[in-house]
Formats: sequence, C-alpha cells, structure tokens
Amino acid sequence: MWRSCVSRGLRLLSCKKASIGRQPIRHSPSTPRFLSTNSVGQYTVVDHTYDAVVVGAGGAGLRAAIGLSEHGFNTACITKLFPTRSHTVAAQGGINAALGNMTEDDWRWHMYDTVKGSDWLGDQDAIQYMCREAPKAVIELENYGLPFSRTEDGKIYQRAFGGQSLNFGKGGQAYRCACAADRTGHALLHSLYGQAMKHNTQFFVEFFALDLLMDGNGTCKGVIALNMEDGTLHRFRAANTILATGGYGRAYFSATSAHTCTGDGNAMVARAGLPLQDLEFVQFHPTGIYGAGCLITEGSRGEGGILRNSEGERFMERYAPTAKDLASRDVVSRSMTMEIREGRGVDVLKERLPGISETAAIFAGVDVTKEPIPVLPTVHYNMGGIPTNYHGEVVHIKGDDPDAIVPGLMAAGEAACASVHGANRLGANSLLDIVVFGRACANRVAEICKPGEKQKPLEKDAGERTIAWLDKLRNSNGSLLTSKIRLNMQRVMQNNAAVFRTQETLEEGCQLIDKAWESFHDVKIRDRSLIWNSDLIETIELENLLINACITMHSAEARKESRGAHAREDFTKREDQNWLKHSLGYWENEKVRLAYRPVHMNTLDDEVESFPPKARVY
Ligand SMILES: Cc1cc2nc3c(=O)[nH]c(=O)nc-3n(C[C@H](O)[C@H](O)[C@H](O)COP(=O)(O)OP(=O)(O)OC[C@H]3O[C@@H](n4cnc5c(N)ncnc54)[C@H](O)[C@@H]3O)c2cc1C
Repeated sequence: MWRSCVSRGLRLLSCKKASIGRQPIRHSPSTPRFLSTNSVGQYTVVDHTYDAVVVGAGGAGLRAAIGLSEHGFNTACITKLFPTRSHTVAAQGGINAALGNMTEDDWRWHMYDTVKGSDWLGDQDAIQYMCREAPKAVIELENYGLPFSRTEDGKIYQRAFGGQSLNFGKGGQAYRCACAADRTGHALLHSLYGQAMKHNTQFFVEFFALDLLMDGNGTCKGVIALNMEDGTLHRFRAANTILATGGYGRAYFSATSAHTCTGDGNAMVARAGLPLQDLEFVQFHPTGIYGAGCLITEGSRGEGGILRNSEGERFMERYAPTAKDLASRDVVSRSMTMEIREGRGVDVLKERLPGISETAAIFAGVDVTKEPIPVLPTVHYNMGGIPTNYHGEVVHIKGDDPDAIVPGLMAAGEAACASVHGANRLGANSLLDIVVFGRACANRVAEICKPGEKQKPLEKDAGERTIAWLDKLRNSNGSLLTSKIRLNMQRVMQNNAAVFRTQETLEEGCQLIDKAWESFHDVKIRDRSLIWNSDLIETIELENLLINACITMHSAEARKESRGAHAREDFTKREDQNWLKHSLGYWENEKVRLAYRPVHMNTLDDEVESFPPKARVY
C-alpha cells in the first residue's frame, strides 16, 4: 500500500539547533520558539508549540489568525504562498450583506436566498449565522481599511448579483453585493494582511503543510510541514489547528481557480481517516473566458451585461423569465450548456469594468467596447469540503452522533463545508463565508481554551509516517511524469463530472479516476533535492487533488437526483425523500467509502423560521 510503507530504521535523534541553518520565519515581529530539533533519517525536524496553528493565509486563514491573536493566543500561520498571493486576491465581484444601502434589505431575505440557492442542502443554522453576521463583517472590513466603492452620498456601494432577491423572493432583484470595483478580493486580502501585521501572528511563509498530527484518540495535535526553502520539516504542536487551505478547482482541466488550489487541507483530513462532505457539488461559473478559463465576474451581468447566443438572442429569458441573466449560477451554466449543445454557442457579454476589460483584451483578444466576449461555464468553486458546524469545528459521524466534534480541529473558507452553500453557492457569498467563519473559529477557540494552556507532549512517533511517505515520494522512480497523470485526471473530471451528468458518464468516470489514482503509484520525480523542489511539491499536490477527485466522482455517481450544481440527465428531479442529506466520502485503503449525515433544517433561534423545501424557480 502506498502510504503504509514506513521505512524501517527511521528514528528521532537529537541534534543541535544550529543545523537548521536559518530562521524559518519571515515577517515575524518576535523570535521563533524552537522547542527541539531532531534528525529523522536525513531529515531535520524542528518542533514548535503554539496555542493555535492556522494553515492558509487567504481570507479565511488571515481572519482566523487576526481573531486568535486579538484574543491573546500565541498563533502560527503556515502558508505555502506569500499571503497576498492566495486565491482570494482574484475575487472580483464582491461580498454580500444586507446593509440596505441601495434599497431596504433584511438579513432574513439574504438567508432565504441562500437556502434557496443551496437547493435546500445548506445547513440553515449556519446560513442564519452567516447572513446575520454579514453586515457586521462588512463594516469590520471597512474599518480595517477596505476601500469599498461608494454611492454618491458616501455609503458602501452595492451591486446586483445572481440569486439575490428582496422580501423572500417576492420583491424583485436585491442590490446586496458590496464591492471595491471589480477587485474586491484584492482589496479584502490586502486589508486583512495589513491587520494581521499589527498582531503577533507568526507567519511561516512558503511552508507546505503535509499532514495532520492526530493522536490515538482521534484528537488533532497540530500539523507537520515542509519548509520549501531549505527542506527542513516542522512539527507544529497546537491545541487548536485551523485548516483554511482553499478549494481544489485544479482537479479539473478548465478552472478559474489558481494553480495552487489543490485541496491540500481536504486531503490531509481524508488521510487522517476523517470524511469530506458533499464533494459532488462543484460550481461551474457561467462566464469563464473560452480557452483561458479566466473569470468574467458575475458583476458584469449585475451591472447590466447580458448573455446572447450566436443568433443574438437573449436566451436566459426563456430559461429564467424573472431573474434572466441573474438567475443563480447552476441555472445559467445549464442554460448555456443547452444553447451550446443545440448549436447556438458564442455567447455575448457587454459591459465596461476596468479589470474585466483588461482580462478580456489579454486572454480573449477582445475590445469589450466593440465586441462580445466568448464565454463558457468553467469550474469555479467547491461547495463541498471538510464538514464543520457553524463554530468552525470539524464534525464527523461517531456512533449514532452525526455531529460529533473532532477535538482540536477546525476548518474555514472554501476548504470547509459549514454547510452554507449546500448544493450551489450564490455569487459573493464566499468572501462573506471566509471572513465570518474565519472569525467564528477564533471566537470558538476563545470560548473553549485559554492562552498558554499546557499541552501534552506529542506522541513519540508523531509525523514519522508522513516523513516516510515524503521520502518515498521524493525518491519515486516510476515511468509517469506528474504532469501526465495530472492532465489525465483533469480530463477525466472535465469530461465525466461536468455540468450535466448521467449514470453512464459517472460510472465510467469512477473507473477512470480510480485508474488515474492507480497510475500515481508509477509516478516519476526527477528532482531529488529538498531545496525548492517544485517537482516534489507538484507531486504532493497531485496526490491531494487525486484524493479529492476520487471522492467527488464516487459521491456524484451515488447521488441519484438533481440538486443545485449536481445535474443528472437521468434523474432530473430533486428527491428530498431520499437525498436531502449530506454525502460523506472517506478515503480508506486508497478507496472511497460513502456515508451520509442529515442536513440541519433548524435555525439557531426564533429570530427567523426555517425555510421548508420547495421547488426552485428563478
Ligand atoms: C477568479 C475567482 C473570483 C472569485 N470571485 C468571488 C467574488 O467576487 N465573491 C465571492 O464571494 N467569492 C468569489 N470567489 C470565491 C472566493 O474568492 C474563494 O472561495 C475564497 O477567496 C477562498 O478563500 P480561502 O481563504 O478559503 O482560500 P484561498 O484564498 O484559496 O487561500 C488558501 C490558502 O491556503 C494556503 N495553503 C493551501 N494549501 C497549503 C498547504 N499544503 N500548506 C500551507 N498552506 C497551504 C495557501 O497558501 C493560501 O494562503 C472567486 C474565486 C475565484 C477563483
């Protein structure tokens, strides 16, 4: 078996701290605290202890780290990228909150839209929490210095976005999406990074988290990471570990997500024997640039842009008579796919937005003032991920408890599945999700822990299995290059787990993706070094992507209904009786095992009543 071949003779030996060579920490206001340094085989292992360790420095990770530091917790933030390179930086459209700056608004209307958008698979307690917190979260960002666009009278400007309505769907289009032109994610991430700098968070930049450190009782004790710069390994012991590692869009061939969105945190959880939830729900954004996959924000349609087919027809009027081009993303993507299939491809978008005009010129060679932009549904977001409750605590099934908490482990952002997006995420609800649940994680830690609490020592062999795995991977000498296996995986996902799915495509997909996993045993790495070994890093990322891909395909094959982004041509209706439940995919002995847990249909309190399932029409 791939992961169980722990080489014999690996030992933890003491050696001098001096062997590390250089400080692993940059951008850190205070000195690192090395507890000990060991050599395992030829690897140098450095031990650290923190109250909390956050993995990821996108919007979710930074907001969690800021909150933890504010509460006085000694916090480490590990990130494989420099923080402001995280994919959050690419978000364009904006962030939803019922601020009511353009029209009257109410967080309950936002909640209704989100529940409906989720096709009733979202947990209503978590959705209530997010929508109620939203106005506060946006004002907090404003106070952090986020340069929001403004109305004439100086309020935060809010644009129309897909799936947003007033008065529980009865009051027409809502203007709920706060934005900083078409660069909201850029402004948000830089504002958060600025705030994080004010605090004592210790950043470990260009450190690649490899695995969770779980003890024999199923408690998370921290993570083990590789310093990509010098090849040293680092065991971070922490009472609280928060995963904020983003999505895994790169399992697909055409995706708007960065090449770094490889689902590492998800795979770490799966390797620890814990489940991933609802991975079959993959959002295709209606408007990726044909060919390049770059995103043309939904804000373009929010500002009046419209989709036309090759006959010049505004076809969305036929599919969603009320919301038209601003129906929710799964609906628009499906309508476009039908138009393209029926030979009326070459869709049109017309709007002038600064970043978008530039993107269109560079990647589509189009002058948006004169010509339409050719667009195509492109993989954009993973609704599924690490299951959590609305505090951010990771949950799993234990005995007959479907909501059992995994002690010491939390998750937030696109890596997590709270689940506020259910089967389909509404545009501008993810930037909201990342700040609300990043903050929720920090608040929860403050409720259950005290700064500086004593921690038990790590188990003696903590991390050894991971080191053996890394060593084996680094020395792998098969016949297939990483890039070849990756391309094969991406093609299988693009073809077999696409906008429309059938039993036939999914069954074939399961066989093909299992084979792609098998082929990974024959991977070849050419670079054996430990200094900036991008070959090795891409190979670890590929393994992580493959685990996500396998669970996605198998969960999709099993779900015999259509709901949100999971559109089956052979099971065209939503089947609440059998399928109003979250899928859980476990990675056991290199195979997918599925289980299910109930959706939370309850609200948190009587400030709002829950919304019972009904037909979803736009
Ligand atoms: C092009 C584009 C436009 C979008 N526009 C919008 C929008 O307008 N509104 C909206 O609401 N949503 C939008 N989204 C979605 C939203 O931006 C993302 O879902 C969200 O930003 C994810 O944030 P995150 O903090 O969870 O993860 P990310 O921002 O992806 O950050 C992940 C972090 O994890 C770290 N990391 C990952 N793996 C490891 C590892 N192994 N070791 C160490 N560190 C690791 C990375 O270094 C990074 O810091 C958009 C997405 C895309 C792709």
